Amino acid sequence: MLDFVVIFTKGGVVLWNSNASGSSFASCINSLIRGVILEERNTEAKYFEEDHLAVQFKLDNELDLVYAAVFQKVIKLSYLDGFLTEMQLAFKEKFGSIPSAERLSEEYDFDREYRRVLSAAEQESAKQVKAPKTMRSFNESQKSKKTVASMLQDDKKPVEKRVNIQESPPAPSSASPSSSPRSKDDIIAESRRKMREKLGSSKKTSPVDIKPTKAAASEKAGKKPRVWDLGGSSKDAVLLDRSKDAPEDVQYQNINSDLVGTMQGVIPDLDVESEDEADYQAESSGDEEAEQLVQSKTNKRSGGGLLSYFKGIVGAKTMTLADLQPALEKMRDHLISKNVASEIAVKLCDSVATSLEGKQMGTFDSIASQVKEALTQSLVRILSPKRRIDIIRDALESKRNGRPYTIIFCGVNGVGKSTNLAKICFWLIENDFNVLIAACDTFRAGAVEQLRTHTRHLNALHPAAKHDGRTMVQLYEKGYGKDAAGIAMEAIKFANDTRVDVVLVDTAGRMQDNEPLMRSLSKLIKVNNPDLVLFVGEALVGNEAVDQLVKFNQSLADFSSNENPHIIDGIVLTKFDTIDDKVGAAISMTYITGQPIVFVGTGQTYADLKAINVNAVVNSLMK
Ligand code: GDP
Repeated sequence: MLDFVVIFTKGGVVLWNSNASGSSFASCINSLIRGVILEERNTEAKYFEEDHLAVQFKLDNELDLVYAAVFQKVIKLSYLDGFLTEMQLAFKEKFGSIPSAERLSEEYDFDREYRRVLSAAEQESAKQVKAPKTMRSFNESQKSKKTVASMLQDDKKPVEKRVNIQESPPAPSSASPSSSPRSKDDIIAESRRKMREKLGSSKKTSPVDIKPTKAAASEKAGKKPRVWDLGGSSKDAVLLDRSKDAPEDVQYQNINSDLVGTMQGVIPDLDVESEDEADYQAESSGDEEAEQLVQSKTNKRSGGGLLSYFKGIVGAKTMTLADLQPALEKMRDHLISKNVASEIAVKLCDSVATSLEGKQMGTFDSIASQVKEALTQSLVRILSPKRRIDIIRDALESKRNGRPYTIIFCGVNGVGKSTNLAKICFWLIENDFNVLIAACDTFRAGAVEQLRTHTRHLNALHPAAKHDGRTMVQLYEKGYGKDAAGIAMEAIKFANDTRVDVVLVDTAGRMQDNEPLMRSLSKLIKVNNPDLVLFVGEALVGNEAVDQLVKFNQSLADFSSNENPHIIDGIVLTKFDTIDDKVGAAISMTYITGQPIVFVGTGQTYADLKAINVNAVVNSLMK
């Protein structure tokens, strides 16, 4: 009946879970953590739903633990309250308190107690449901025993124990090797398991995930426990981060040596779909087919997109604000629909109005080009940084001065800090800097292993042999639960002593409203005095990203005792490849904070790192 049971800390570290096919439930549990537990929102309800799943949970405020049971929401399970209470009692009885961070990575062998508590709860519930039926045959009760027995058998499979719930492959498709005739319950259990498998596998081929790889293919061969490379064990790596929905090697199958050499020099700009260029080429080629294409593009231009709002304003007279007003209103709504914050959309419209007012109303094309020019000018102003950030130049300068260049990455959970840190690391190595990654996310289990894997992949792409024997990436890590500021400090000292060029500091994700965590970030930055603090934000969250940025900046300023606090210097705008033409976050984030977008993440390979390009943004806004 129950699909998945998990015990985790309020911070999201999993202590124990009921089975390894939990990958299909990771997203639901992550949403529960993010949307309810971390935000302390509506926790009294103790019930949460996402898609076809429901979660009933119980909070243990004394130990800061959460007991959660996941099931299909169409099913009503009356025994869950009692079951979760019994789970809590049994867990406490066995392990006492869970006081220190070190204990979070311990093995919590709780399978036997879980089965006992579940079986008791189910039997109790079955008694209640069947109470009116006075007559129960012995055979029937045998059947119910057999169901429980078959569950026991499933849970005993060694591979299902303490495996990362996101990274564990789906359960093997072969049924339990029982030769006895199957009961109805067995058949239902089997069908549900198959459905879970199906859900799990469809998730892995979602458009966000990259192409299937060897790792994905081998998954089909059967369930295997996760083995982390270069130390660490699967039991330490149980985490509830949605970034791990795909197995790690699926995410980074791109240790494809074709990438080597592609990121030398400055970061390439975002690609621009340049209609003008194509039009010019077509016109000058005299090719009839190409000219037809230009014509159809012109029609399309006047038929849809932002410029079409100005279609009606053509003629011989001079333009007034009143003539422009209806078109400007539509333009504002259009910009808002692209995720531009409304205040900024109004400002952009004002600048277009100023540039058109008093001009002669010419043809549609002449108005269109004036609107485009005015918008471009405004966006250039917004997107041009107040201060120029040239990492290569500054890192070279630091190197000449005999000290490492340090960048700290911060942001909320799951936005792509580690992934984009690794891409930036790749770019730096491509430019012959050697790098020390400081694993200062000492909170989220699995974070260190994630960086370890990157380190291994990056060194595989750039082996020391190709760099005069220099190891190009090293990882400085001290495990979990330690003071992040102290680790960063040791890492920088280590880099200084061993002549490493650049230190990239990964930090734990945190919500902008979480004061204690914002204080500790402020401390980390203050004591380590980095060269650059980069805020990592997703392009797809739109205005929420602006709120995050503003509050991060505010906290860094408020909680630093420095007279001149080091706030955010620049932005890494991630997942730009997932937003289609809704590029508004790029504009809003830079406009509101005045900080430049230093990098744009455009995918999941190491080479998916771009620089912001005004023309690409303008073109997307025009559509
Ligand atoms: P963190 O918690 O902030 O460190 O986030 P991660 O680096 O673990 O990334 C979270 C998820 O976002 C992972 O699945 C990444 O592969 C994915 N991701 C990161 N950057 C990008 C990007 O630029 N484009 C896309 N499509 N996915 C990204």
